[in-house]
Amino acid sequence: MKIAFIGLGNMGGPMALNLHKAGHTVQAFDLSKAATEKLAAQGVTLAASATDAVQGAQAVISMLPASQHVESLYLGENGLLAQLPTGTLVIDCSTIAAASAKKVAQAAAVRGLPCLDAPVSGGTGGAMAGTLTFMVGGDDSALALARPLLEKMGANIFHAGAAGAGQTAKICNNMLLGILMIGTSEALALGAANGLDPQVLSEIMRRSSGGNWALEKYNPMPGVMETAPAAKGYAGGFGTDLMLKDLGLAQENATTVKAATPLGGLARSLYAAHSLAGQGGLDFSSIIQLFTPKA
Ligand code: NAD
Repeated sequence: MKIAFIGLGNMGGPMALNLHKAGHTVQAFDLSKAATEKLAAQGVTLAASATDAVQGAQAVISMLPASQHVESLYLGENGLLAQLPTGTLVIDCSTIAAASAKKVAQAAAVRGLPCLDAPVSGGTGGAMAGTLTFMVGGDDSALALARPLLEKMGANIFHAGAAGAGQTAKICNNMLLGILMIGTSEALALGAANGLDPQVLSEIMRRSSGGNWALEKYNPMPGVMETAPAAKGYAGGFGTDLMLKDLGLAQENATTVKAATPLGGLARSLYAAHSLAGQGGLDFSSIIQLFTPKA
């Protein structure tokens, strides 16, 4: 299949590469030269613009930072939806507001374009390994078309419901993840302040009732887990500012549906403080720095 892939950052880059390795013809575009050069070095065809990337493509996949980027890519007179031939499959994998995803889906439906919101979980490791979890919103028929492509990038594909439902599932998950990372950080910092070896404490909690994904796969304390961003000075991974964005989306949504999410609200404030302290570009597990003594 000929696929246009727009947004080649920490997640989109490896996802596009997995489609390329699976034998699809990927026409890739990103505004950042550094991101495109990385992919070109691995044999992926680069496009000069998003319009260029969609020429002849049967599917368009986007992986962009936030709602405004997705809306400006697809909507409006010069947006991609106005340029695509009827029947072209549109899959947006970015984490954005459910309301934005619905807006894009409605505009796509008017143009006869099958469209899905398909945000992901699994981090950059999952993107590279092709083991992401997709949370999909949209029609069964669009998902049937997309499934062979999603299977090349992920290991789990969940149909959450109609347009926007994938995004709603995603913010519920990420609100829980943000809270879990703070709780895990607090517990590890408390143990360390009492002289416990963080490696030993991590193993105890991992195998006890405090066990969770952060302890299992993404330990925030440097020196405990070689594969975690904490081992690389919190470079790469899932940025604090992206987590802050997701927690903001969760709070906006909670306000709309009148849900009570007090820990989600507190988590948002803590990530905001961390970002204001200049750490927004670091992986979100660096939130542990709020609870550990400065070196
Ligand atoms: P990133 O910042 O590394 O990559 C985003 C890329 O989009 C950048 O390379 C940027 O140049 C490009 N871009 C922005 N606007 C563009 C446009 N108009 N046209 C073309 N390219 C454009 O971000 P990421 O970590 O890859 O995350 C992408 C999305 O995936 C976000 O919505 C994020 O919330 C979500 N997500 C990230 C992770 C993670 O672990 N990083 C995990 C799950 C979901």
